[in-house]
Amino acid sequence: MSSGEGCEIKEELDYLKRTKLEFEKAVQFINAVVGPIEKGVVKFLEQPFRQLIVRFPVHMDDGSIEMFTGYRVQHSRLYEPTKGGIRFSPDVDLDLITALAFDMTLKCRVVDLPYGGSKGGVCCDPKKMSRGELSRLTRRYTYEILPVIGPDSDVPAPDVGTGEREMGIICDTYKMFNPQSSYSSAVVTGKPLSLGGCRGRKEATARGGAYVLEEAVKQRHIEGLTSLKDAAVVVQGFGNVGYNIANILHEDYGCRIVGICDSKGGIYREEGLNPKDVLTHKENTSSKQSVVGYDGLQRLTVEQLLTSPCDILVPAAKETQIVGALANDIKARVILELANGTTTNLAHEILIHKNIYVLPDILANAGGVTVSYSEWLQNKAGESWELSQVEGKLQKKMVTAYTNIAKTAKNYDLDMRKAAFVFAISNVIEVLFERGIFP
Ligand code: NAD
Repeated sequence: MSSGEGCEIKEELDYLKRTKLEFEKAVQFINAVVGPIEKGVVKFLEQPFRQLIVRFPVHMDDGSIEMFTGYRVQHSRLYEPTKGGIRFSPDVDLDLITALAFDMTLKCRVVDLPYGGSKGGVCCDPKKMSRGELSRLTRRYTYEILPVIGPDSDVPAPDVGTGEREMGIICDTYKMFNPQSSYSSAVVTGKPLSLGGCRGRKEATARGGAYVLEEAVKQRHIEGLTSLKDAAVVVQGFGNVGYNIANILHEDYGCRIVGICDSKGGIYREEGLNPKDVLTHKENTSSKQSVVGYDGLQRLTVEQLLTSPCDILVPAAKETQIVGALANDIKARVILELANGTTTNLAHEILIHKNIYVLPDILANAGGVTVSYSEWLQNKAGESWELSQVEGKLQKKMVTAYTNIAKTAKNYDLDMRKAAFVFAISNVIEVLFERGIFP
């Protein structure tokens, strides 16, 4: 039960169950306020249309053979191709990938991209695997999911534990099996530039989040925060998204990055940290690979860091991190959810009750898939766009999405998460009716 004053709801720690709960609540709201949704439509949307599970062997460096389990879940093909990242992590399972695929469908509606949602992953620990092992695992996993991916059917991208290198391997594997395909590079986004990648894709999720935050400040929606200059920021997670948001907010917006943490712990300095220096420290502590120990600063736990004084808290690590037990102690004015599914339902109620503005994941982190769309368009057209063009399109999409969700929130007196769900689901239903059901 609740640990937040006035919040009497049961905390749901399971991400998939939480997603379904949010979906149900939004459906109830649409039914009551906007207009009735047919029951069959609700059933159609709450389940993914395809869940593929693959088990495959990989040769390890010591000569042994290990078995791995991988997944590719396609949630909705109201639009094709479907689109979603690939995660390599020990906690990958069918439910997690299904929840992430569901969110991708909604995210694409929030930023108005003609994609359905999907997601994939392999249960493995990339931090404990060699380069060669990871490369063989990526290649074999790609082979196993080849029947369901393609430039016009389902297009993977990076997520936790994967990056440019893995996307390059996926691209190469697909090309080897589809030598005649004229735009086969479009099978995956987040590739290295030399293989048809897009300028700005690595920074895109973070940059998109920064545009959303900037717009929220501009529209005076965050109580007590009228400028990003010198605003104090705490970032959880220091991988692709976490490092880039820290660096962008520091360099381009003049924020003070007061706290950073990764899975091993965190550091805090009121006067601010330079993310580039912290990254150099992390990369040079070869055994620890952590921000901990930077410049002799005291090591804090992740919980201590999340509840440290700041104006802006950016969860950029993984799901179910902002839980009810922590929410009461969070001091930020705004939470920019760059990680997917990071806040529990109870924590969210507590934050709203405390008047903390929450920019929900399906809006805040949609910059990644938005620039993936640009990459896919370039691959199909045989073009290569300048960074300014990519960022200009990204900014326009993110500002429009923010404005649409903020308007929905205002019109219906909803918080931003409920507004994003109501906006996205209403939109999916509209598309379904326009398209019809085959046959
Ligand atoms: P990544 O693997 O590059 O980085 C993850 C970071 O989180 C690492 O620094 C890791 O040490 C840290 N971490 C893990 N558990 C932690 C914990 N309990 N506390 C603190 N730090 C922890 O992954 P990423 O690509 O940066 O993705 C981060 C989040 O952003 C994920 O939720 C992902 O789904 C979401 N996201 C990523 C993209 C993308 O384009 N990469 C797009 C949209 C959303």
